[in-house]
Amino acid sequence: MVDVTVRGAGIFGLSIAWACARRGAKVQVVDPFGPGSGSSGGLVGALAPHVPENWNAKKAFQFDSLIMAEPFWQQVEGTGGVSPGYGRLGRLQPIPDTRSLDLARQREGSADQLWQGQAEWRVISTSQAGSWCPPSPTGFVIRDTLTARMHPRRACAALVAALEVMGVHVVANADDRGQVVHATGLAGLLELNDAYGKTVGNGVKGQAALLRFDAGEMPQLFADAVHIVPHADGTLAIGSTSERDYDDPTSTDSALNDVIDRATRALPLLHGAEMIERWAGVRPRSKSRAPMLGLHPLHQGQFIANGGFKIGFGMAPKVAEVMADLMLEDRDSIPDDFRPEVSL
Ligand SMILES: Cc1cc2nc3c(=O)[nH]c(=O)nc-3n(C[C@H](O)[C@H](O)[C@H](O)COP(=O)(O)OP(=O)(O)OC[C@H]3O[C@@H](n4cnc5c(N)ncnc54)[C@H](O)[C@@H]3O)c2cc1C
Repeated sequence: MVDVTVRGAGIFGLSIAWACARRGAKVQVVDPFGPGSGSSGGLVGALAPHVPENWNAKKAFQFDSLIMAEPFWQQVEGTGGVSPGYGRLGRLQPIPDTRSLDLARQREGSADQLWQGQAEWRVISTSQAGSWCPPSPTGFVIRDTLTARMHPRRACAALVAALEVMGVHVVANADDRGQVVHATGLAGLLELNDAYGKTVGNGVKGQAALLRFDAGEMPQLFADAVHIVPHADGTLAIGSTSERDYDDPTSTDSALNDVIDRATRALPLLHGAEMIERWAGVRPRSKSRAPMLGLHPLHQGQFIANGGFKIGFGMAPKVAEVMADLMLEDRDSIPDDFRPEVSL
């Protein structure tokens, strides 16, 4: 049986540990701060696709991962008994002007072709979309059936529970054993910056809010550049800011108030909903903006999985599989754009 050491218990590390354990590896996960203590401990959880055009390796990888997400999270929940709050309920996006409306209509055809009938992208009228739909200047919205929701913090807890059942524990300290992968988020990028004396990656702060609002099985909304994500547990997340310059990675401020105001303007139903939590975290972003997967540039013979940036949760199911292929079976199916060298 192969041994695997995963350093970092965020969504990348936990998902890789899960994929390796399912293939029979003897896995340990090491995180001195505990599972979900980095960027993955948040609350938004929009698993949303890129626009279906100008197809490239990153979009194809993300599409595969979004399709893989449903069975992935079903298996995790079925094993550990903890729900990640996954649901593929789709998304509505108001269309602001006639140019965007033309583009959105062109993308109906490209989605049919690129998404291979596995999901739809359609332009529908706001009246067809129903009362949950935000107002749209053109009277039309995009409805896609690929977007899913999931509760990030609960997803980490679901993976930890499923790993426990598989005999995999998250510990604060342990020596390397077997194949080693570093999925240490921002800390891992800063280590690369120090070693190379330049920016290989950086952190982009995000602030988000969680309200008590039970929207049932309604689709998530993307309006005025804000994600509005109804969760399965009767809460609703609003996110996020995107800040390259920040002093305190964990504080929230008026920038979050602005995001909440925009959400409430798009969906006045949210007025007066109880605020449960204001949260901030730092997204690990590689210089190339793509995930950074493969051999570790500093630790010889070891591996790296980093750079999830804004879509780490959406990418995790496929990241886990390609990293398990590489580490356990020496099978390399990582897109060239995702190689660490691209950001060095
Ligand atoms: C406000 C906000 C909203 C977001 N919304 C979404 C969304 O809607 N959809 C989506 O897909 N993504 C979203 N993201 C992005 C997503 O959260 C990240 O891409 C993802 O969490 C990155 O996961 P990770 O495992 O690489 O890093 P992290 O979660 O940061 O995990 C790294 C882990 O490594 C540990 N660590 C650090 N140093 C060491 C060490 N030396 N040894 C061992 N462990 C170490 C840390 O404690 C941490 O637990 C959002 C992020 C933010 C901040």
